[in-house]
Amino acid sequence: MKNQENTTRMPAIFIGHGNPMNAINDNPYREAWLTLGKTLPRPRAILCVSAHWQTRGTQVCIAEKPKTIHDFGGFPAALFAQHYPAPGAPEFANMACDLFTTGIVTKTQDWGLDHGAWTVLQSLFPAADVPVFQLSLDVTLNFAGHFAFAKNLACLRERGVMIIASGNIVHNLGRLNPNGEAADWAVIFDDYIKTALETGDDAALIDISSAGNAAKLSVPTDEHYLPLLYIAAVRHADDQMHFLTESFDMSSLSMRSVIFR
Ligand code: ZN
Repeated sequence: MKNQENTTRMPAIFIGHGNPMNAINDNPYREAWLTLGKTLPRPRAILCVSAHWQTRGTQVCIAEKPKTIHDFGGFPAALFAQHYPAPGAPEFANMACDLFTTGIVTKTQDWGLDHGAWTVLQSLFPAADVPVFQLSLDVTLNFAGHFAFAKNLACLRERGVMIIASGNIVHNLGRLNPNGEAADWAVIFDDYIKTALETGDDAALIDISSAGNAAKLSVPTDEHYLPLLYIAAVRHADDQMHFLTESFDMSSLSMRSVIFR
């Protein structure tokens, strides 16, 4: 029975998405996402948790045809021309809502796929033929609250749903330096998270204060960090973990991705 579960459980993936231009530029990140995509099983649906959808209370998008949301400014027309026409997954979105006590999660048609979702899905599943739905980040929850909430989603992996979370472990736009080396504090915090993931130290992921100033500079706002907690929370004891794109972009973005499968 256990072996059977292992063969059917879908991976859970955190992607460090970084610059939206990674969707269309040829670079090591997009290359790695394309390569990873070729190794992934075909899920029945994808649940995406993106840094770029924050709401009061958690929302789940049940749209049948989620629109591609270009939620950024100042980028070339070529990026605005991108569309990811994957079908929605209302059946699975409803299944996700049913995991929670009535009233905790709200269903909505009024979202789609923001750039945290589609800029990485475009490379992971370029055919756009796997149904996908998004779940928002509840701004009223603290880190422990998000982790506890996300644990309820773990069983979806056994039901053919691949959970893909998209953010950045280190994300400080105020400290971007296009030609700079990785900042010392960024390296320290990224390494702290790497160790916590390797040792299964969820407490260290939930309470990052012991990383001190490196944590404050790396996570000046919580939205890009939180998606990582969703993947850590749905980790299974039997999962193998590996990292992808362990590097930094523009000095203050960690591009580390992590795959549990
Ligand atoms: Zn982002």
